[in-house]
Amino acid sequence: MTIATGPSPKPSTRPPGAESKFHHDAAIKAADDAHRTTVRRNIDTYNVAVDTGKARFSDWEAARRRCQQIKWEAVNHLDRYLVEFEENIKRRGGHVFWAASSEEARNYVLELAAARGVKTVVKSKSMVTEEVHLNPALEARGIQVWETDLGEYIVQLRDEPPYHILTPAMHLSHAQILQLFREKIPGDIEGESHEELVAAARRALRRAFFSAEMGISGANFLVADAGMVAISTNEGNGRLCTSVPPIHVVFAGIEKIIPRLQDLATLWPVLTTAGTGQFLTTYGTLIGGPRTAEEIDGPREFHLILLDNGRSRLLADIEQREVLHCIRCGACLNACPVYRNIGGHAYGTTYMGPIGSVLTPHLRGLDEYQHLSFASSLCGACSEVCPVRIDLAHHLLHNRRNAVDRTPRPWRERLAMRLWRWAMLDGRRFRMAGTLGRMALLTLYGAGAQQTKMDPLHAWTEAREAPPLAPVSFHDRWRRSHGKH
Ligand code: SF4
Repeated sequence: MTIATGPSPKPSTRPPGAESKFHHDAAIKAADDAHRTTVRRNIDTYNVAVDTGKARFSDWEAARRRCQQIKWEAVNHLDRYLVEFEENIKRRGGHVFWAASSEEARNYVLELAAARGVKTVVKSKSMVTEEVHLNPALEARGIQVWETDLGEYIVQLRDEPPYHILTPAMHLSHAQILQLFREKIPGDIEGESHEELVAAARRALRRAFFSAEMGISGANFLVADAGMVAISTNEGNGRLCTSVPPIHVVFAGIEKIIPRLQDLATLWPVLTTAGTGQFLTTYGTLIGGPRTAEEIDGPREFHLILLDNGRSRLLADIEQREVLHCIRCGACLNACPVYRNIGGHAYGTTYMGPIGSVLTPHLRGLDEYQHLSFASSLCGACSEVCPVRIDLAHHLLHNRRNAVDRTPRPWRERLAMRLWRWAMLDGRRFRMAGTLGRMALLTLYGAGAQQTKMDPLHAWTEAREAPPLAPVSFHDRWRRSHGKH
């Protein structure tokens, strides 16, 4: 990491809003035991399923490496594969729109909806539509939007954004969902069991599927050589959204491209195993355009929006380009000790957890979102679980370095870092610093300073108990047992 010891950093135009809100919301969530219990229970259930799923692979690590290669090839040849994909879609009568920004993507859909007289839209799960804030824009034009993924439907009823990129209602208990349904869809509730709640949502959503004029979906992969959009779902809502309404619109980030249909044979099971522990989801759908003359169902119009929104900038950054390899499985969120404690909403971003902390400063600006890079213990659990082997911990460090380069740090922090560097570069200095630090802490704690404002570790010990200082330092114990070195 680069410490700001050189020329004065460029002045930052950094607004304080996102950072202070993050710290405020994170502190509240971290102290909410009921919330943490629900989230941990759900993640622990997920972990068991994923471990079982990985055991189905004869060599999980080899599968990860293959996925990494596929995504590397795709991202490093985006120009070629995206054009190949576009030509295939157009050949079958589909429309492809290249959106440079969220605004362009939203406007395309709004104009299409206005031109076709759309009053109702059904959506299957799509984080990209969250990224461009599509629902509020449609609703502002008087269009009713139905999220049809069960988790998305639940958070939409609560007027909340998704809590997790794969399991949007992970933070809610059965009792909370029952209460919500009683308030929001009372006529449809016939019982209290999980099955009855699912049935109630199904009845409400069925009506929407058959009245909507437009279906909107995301895409898990865009297959270049076949010109196909690949979608994984478990509830069948994806197929209904993409085949019942007369117009189907797909939202996809440009990084979703993969070169060949055969790549799905590895990517699909790896995505679903890392995401939910399933070898494959219940429904795997491939869509290549509007209904043909021989087909009896399917949309009459097919539109695909390829969203850039900052991704080309990331592509141009050789150090961090591999962040575009992400297949949005959500595994890094579940592995992250910070996410497990503060949850998804505290981040205040579309993409949360480690991938969100890495990606958001690129999509929404480093000035406003640099604090996310520091919301990590750098334990590396995210890098270990990532099925496409993105070294997320490393990218968090890159973002920190870039943040430090851009934003003047407090003089105390700069001084502390200089001293730390000075001590770490020499064994004798390191030992001397350790001895002085121990002596200072023992003196202060002997005078009763522990967990008071006098404690130099006060910020850390405010919310937790510091372990007592060991009577003998690790270095001294090592020297005694292994001899002088
Ligand atoms: S960074 Fe890796 S683990 Fe995290 S969501 Fe993306 S693919 Fe999954």
